[in-house]
Amino acid sequence: MSTIAAISTPRAQGGISVIRISGKDALSVAEKIFQPISHSTPATQMEGYTCAYGKITDGAETVDDGVLTVFRAPKSYTGEDVAEISCHGGIFVTDRVLKLAFSNGAEPAEPGEFTKRAFLNGKMSLTQAEAVMDVISADGKAGLKCAEALREGALYRRIKAVSDGMLKLLGSLAAWVDYPEDDIPAVEEYEISAALELASSSLDGLLSAYDSGRIIREGADTAIVGRPNVGKSTLMNLLSGCERSIVTDIAGTTRDIVEESVRLGDIVLRLSDTAGIRETGDLVESVGVDRARKKLETADLILAVFDTGAEIAPGDIALAESCKGRNAVAILNKSDLEQRFDFSAISACFRDSVTISAGHGEGLDKLQAAVEKIYNTAAFSPDRGVLANERQRSCAVKAKACFDEALEALHSGATYDAVNILIDEGENHLLELTGERASEAVVNEVFSRFCVGK
Ligand code: GDP
Repeated sequence: MSTIAAISTPRAQGGISVIRISGKDALSVAEKIFQPISHSTPATQMEGYTCAYGKITDGAETVDDGVLTVFRAPKSYTGEDVAEISCHGGIFVTDRVLKLAFSNGAEPAEPGEFTKRAFLNGKMSLTQAEAVMDVISADGKAGLKCAEALREGALYRRIKAVSDGMLKLLGSLAAWVDYPEDDIPAVEEYEISAALELASSSLDGLLSAYDSGRIIREGADTAIVGRPNVGKSTLMNLLSGCERSIVTDIAGTTRDIVEESVRLGDIVLRLSDTAGIRETGDLVESVGVDRARKKLETADLILAVFDTGAEIAPGDIALAESCKGRNAVAILNKSDLEQRFDFSAISACFRDSVTISAGHGEGLDKLQAAVEKIYNTAAFSPDRGVLANERQRSCAVKAKACFDEALEALHSGATYDAVNILIDEGENHLLELTGERASEAVVNEVFSRFCVGK
């Protein structure tokens, strides 16, 4: 395998930058461009986990000074010999050091190639490699906790437990099917059935927590909807703590979808303040209204705002109808006014409701509690292992379908051979999930989403 190099820090000005070189020639590449000052040991002679201060040079002149850290295979991030050169964090100087590595034998690393090598060298499972990217992109405490648990191998262990159980079952079934005349103890139907039920329910647990996990990690795509003038922009401004949407008391002025992310407790809401949902003859505004309807259909979370200082209007009822069966919270706004709104007429359409006064900045805590209740964040425990992305979820869904089908086949009197084939297929999906039997295409797809240098 070639020796690769890339800048592992962001491409921006900063205190330091790190150029990472990995592969069997990593230390000899480093030796050619780095002259130690702090001691006289050249890079190829340095022990793993040691550093040297020195000059980075192109042979003729000094490019910068910096620190070289040496990792020896297999005790490195990639499992190969690794040299990391920290230099000053200027874009120009960092590029120059990288080019020196290239002109001395290293090749440019592909996106995610360091982590891909770590996976191929058995340093981590595919799910752990995916977690590296989640750790980097986590934008909140809960998201980071999920990613760390994944990186630490919680999901891997949970899938492995299911997979090991199925392998054991496959083993005894195969022995029994292949050598019927030998003295192998019969596998009882109830044993197969119990093992399959356990596997299926374990996968079921993972799948049902997937949505909470996704929202905690990625945030909830949130639509703020309601008739004109109920206080949507005011609520959005309250949530974001700044004047982002234009708040006016002329109906229908929020024409476009304004988007931004705000944090509500442990959950990030990706908010879009939408044009008021109502029929309108105004062409420009009707474009906005169409988009608002689409947004309402696809959002993870709906905050349906009502003006409780006014009588319930046909538009309120229509909106409530479209919230049925969705993760929708009724926001009963303008609690400071004399109350004229009959919420009981539409309350059945909502998962929850909160009374607030967006104008006076009151009630956000109640909204937070309602949203956390919807996504059951309190009961969510990443340490037990959670599915972190669509790829993993799809593998788990397919595996569960196979085990359920095997169970059905078993109960309807199919041969053990037929049952065996279904279990084997399910097992394959589990091994694809952890990466133990993932095709090259799957592996490449996972790593193509990484950035260069990781
Ligand atoms: P939108 O059209 O739904 O975005 O509504 P706006 O946020 O623009 O608000 C419409 C009007 O209602 C503005 O005059 C706001 O000041 C007012 N408003 C918003 N929230 C409250 C509230 O809690 N109490 C009172 N009294 N007025 C509010």
